[in-house]
Amino acid sequence: MEERILSMICVSCPVGCDLKVQARGKEVVSVEGHSCPRGVDFAKAEVANPTRVFATTVRVAGGKLPVCPVRSRQAVPKERLDDISREVARLTVPAPVTIGQIIVGDVCGTGVDIVATRDLAAEEERS
Ligand code: SF4
Repeated sequence: MEERILSMICVSCPVGCDLKVQARGKEVVSVEGHSCPRGVDFAKAEVANPTRVFATTVRVAGGKLPVCPVRSRQAVPKERLDDISREVARLTVPAPVTIGQIIVGDVCGTGVDIVATRDLAAEEERS
């Protein structure tokens, strides 16, 4: 199987090391540029099954603000991010919204919920 050289940034901590990863198929052959072992773990996961935490905003009807920030409760497969984005973009959620409220359960069949990351009062609750 052909070997590839991949460049990636480790997002396991705020340092953000630039990694140079040699991979064969879904296996990592070598990693350079990491400052700790978590960089190697990140590279292995990224090559085998890349995932990301999804974050965006969702429209809110009758809210103090027109949109509410949301995110996936866990990381989702990177290749599903576009599908998830399209599904969430179609939604309008009625106010009030509570932090941690499930906005979409099992989004796109990934088994992961999209949840609100802040409280958002209804318009009439404004003081
Ligand atoms: S390799 Fe280690 S130090 Fe570098 S970004 Fe990843 S976790 Fe942070």
